[in-house]
Amino acid sequence: MWKQLLLSVGVGVLVLNGPASASADQLTPQELVKTTKSLQKIERDVHASKQAVEKAERHVQAVDERADALQAKLDQVSTQLEAYETASTPEETSLFKQVLSSVLPSAKAEAAESEKAETDLKAREAEAARALEELSDQQAEVKAEREQAKASHAAAYKQLKAQAAQLTDLKKQKAAIAPDQFMIPATGRLSQGFGPASGQFGYTFHNGIDIAAKVGTPIYAAADGKVIDVKTSGPYGKHVFIEHDLNGQKWTTVYAHMHKIEVKKGQALLQGEGIGQIGNTGNSSGPHLHFEVHQGKYGYSSSSAGNTVNPMDVAEVLGGTSPIKAVY
Ligand SMILES: [Zn+2]
Repeated sequence: MWKQLLLSVGVGVLVLNGPASASADQLTPQELVKTTKSLQKIERDVHASKQAVEKAERHVQAVDERADALQAKLDQVSTQLEAYETASTPEETSLFKQVLSSVLPSAKAEAAESEKAETDLKAREAEAARALEELSDQQAEVKAEREQAKASHAAAYKQLKAQAAQLTDLKKQKAAIAPDQFMIPATGRLSQGFGPASGQFGYTFHNGIDIAAKVGTPIYAAADGKVIDVKTSGPYGKHVFIEHDLNGQKWTTVYAHMHKIEVKKGQALLQGEGIGQIGNTGNSSGPHLHFEVHQGKYGYSSSSAGNTVNPMDVAEVLGGTSPIKAVY
């Protein structure tokens, strides 16, 4: 039974002894990686737009404060101007004083003084009128700037809303494709499952699953992570270790007996990115991928599970189908 199960990365359906049910909307690891990259880009865009909206908000606020200060100044000058206008002696009184001053010497002196005060008042009045005019001009400028700032804010907010909607869509798209935890890293035939083994190859517990496929079949990263080691010899042959952090839990995955390694130590990977090809290196009697999933750090035992868990319990094919549940 196990030996006949086909594991497929490319499609969400697993089949036994038959061609994979390929369709036009077939899911591929490349599609998953593309979606993840679009998601990451739009996340950066949303972040930038949020900052733009905040900046625009601060600008509107600053312009509002300037407008308020300007209005207060305008009110003050306007009140002063009214006071000057009220204090200004009407023309007739002035004429009466002029006549009076021609007959009374004391009145003449008084008139001269009064006339000087009147001239000063007129000068202050004219100055206040000029200030008022200048302030009105400034107010018009601030109003225009406020309109512009409001428009910029509205545009930034509109963009943010559109991007946020895009982000929601992409998250849904990704959730529909991406397996919850790990992705079955290659397409092929399950030639050996996880669990007790005969001991004929030097181990009594098989810590991973074997996916048999022809040399050169692509292998993909089972989850987002970082390559922590790449080795080219030993029982595993050419092999890769990837460390993952999934919802705060550390995991390590191992991909062994590879034909070709296409990643470097330290490289960051997205789920579904190619890491190399299936091969027949190390202790291997035919081309296959030996895939291990360790909870936490790599911890191997030849007679027990060690740190490993059954990949079939934690890995799914694209589209989120459990390989076990998909057997029919
Ligand atoms: Zn194996």
